[in-house]
Amino acid sequence: MALIKSFNLNFSRHPYTKALLSSLGLVVTNDTTLDQTLEIDYQVESANYTKRFQLIPRTLNNTSSLRSFNTFSATLPSAYELVSNLDLLSFYSKQILNIFDYFSSSDSIIASTRIPKLAFRVDSDGFKLSAVQSSLRLSEKAGFPFTWFVDVKPAIDNLSFYKYAASCKQDIQLHCFNHLFQPNSNKFKRDVLLGKDLLEDTLGYRIKGYSGPSGRYTLNNYRILSELGFTYTSDFSFAHDFPIFNIPAISLLQVPIYPFSIGTSIAANWSTSNYVKHMKSYLKLKYLQRQDAIIYAHPENRIELYTNELLEVFGFARSIGFKFHTFNELIISKKENHYSTFQCKDIISKLEYMLNTNRLGSYSTEQNLPLSIKSIIYKSKTTNFPLRCFLKSIFFKLKQLKSSILRQLN
Ligand SMILES: [Zn+2]
Repeated sequence: MALIKSFNLNFSRHPYTKALLSSLGLVVTNDTTLDQTLEIDYQVESANYTKRFQLIPRTLNNTSSLRSFNTFSATLPSAYELVSNLDLLSFYSKQILNIFDYFSSSDSIIASTRIPKLAFRVDSDGFKLSAVQSSLRLSEKAGFPFTWFVDVKPAIDNLSFYKYAASCKQDIQLHCFNHLFQPNSNKFKRDVLLGKDLLEDTLGYRIKGYSGPSGRYTLNNYRILSELGFTYTSDFSFAHDFPIFNIPAISLLQVPIYPFSIGTSIAANWSTSNYVKHMKSYLKLKYLQRQDAIIYAHPENRIELYTNELLEVFGFARSIGFKFHTFNELIISKKENHYSTFQCKDIISKLEYMLNTNRLGSYSTEQNLPLSIKSIIYKSKTTNFPLRCFLKSIFFKLKQLKSSILRQLN
């Protein structure tokens, strides 16, 4: 009988593998002398051994497209969102499962006893006082603080609301000054600094988190955020439904969120009860994987209309065992260190949930052109730059159609 003690790898070369191993609570150490090798230290009786495995490197994936999601019901119309093109969770869980083939499922393994956390992100696009007030009341009723990403320009005469929210223990961070994806580095830096300075003057503390308009970035945007002192960004264009990871070569954390929001549900014409059902099924699956769940919504015409439904979702999360955190606390709680001995099969069963490419919340390969066009039109209407967004989405869709036709021809 073996006892697996630790996983040693080069963190900067394998940030996704490191993130997934850590999210499973395993003991992971950084060894910069290792390149494409993962070393596992284990013990049999009282003798120590090291087993080496090859890892497949992967560069940062930053292509996203409009994708439909696997839902709990095959009869519901698909819900669409603009997300990362790679299902990182299934890719990396497969890689780690292959490693476990070397051991027996009844072997022992040291892992932390951490409890999965749920964080709720409020993307305050625009500013409607009654809607943000209703979101704040929801946080009080739910009994935990939310993390808000502020769209500063529309709120410029009402920033005192966020000062008040911060005094109610809400975690306030920056969405943008002007809600526009900005690939030009100078213009991007100007926009971020404007929003950051105004928020910091209002709140009296340093802003550390950023979430880009429509979740879209260039790699240079990330570098600028790092230079400006941000410690993390949160999106679903680089990864969704994946644990927090270090963005390679930049000192920034990425906090991927689950892209399925109230807006996604409304765009797909789902009833409120189907939204609740979907979120409950997703949270249940995340809990079985023992991973944190990070979900989001917008205040106006979303949270303000779904307060009862969200309360039901949060109540369900609490009932199955989730603890609630802000983003700030999530990042700090990664350093928790209470370890115990488990059987390998416990870890393997979690990885098997993640491996399933048809798992709930992963994107499906299903293409429903009328529905996706409808979703594109809906999305373009809800941005500050409808024409640009509309043309971009059409371009994405055409690219996707072209590759699916090419696949069929081959
Ligand atoms: Zn936004």
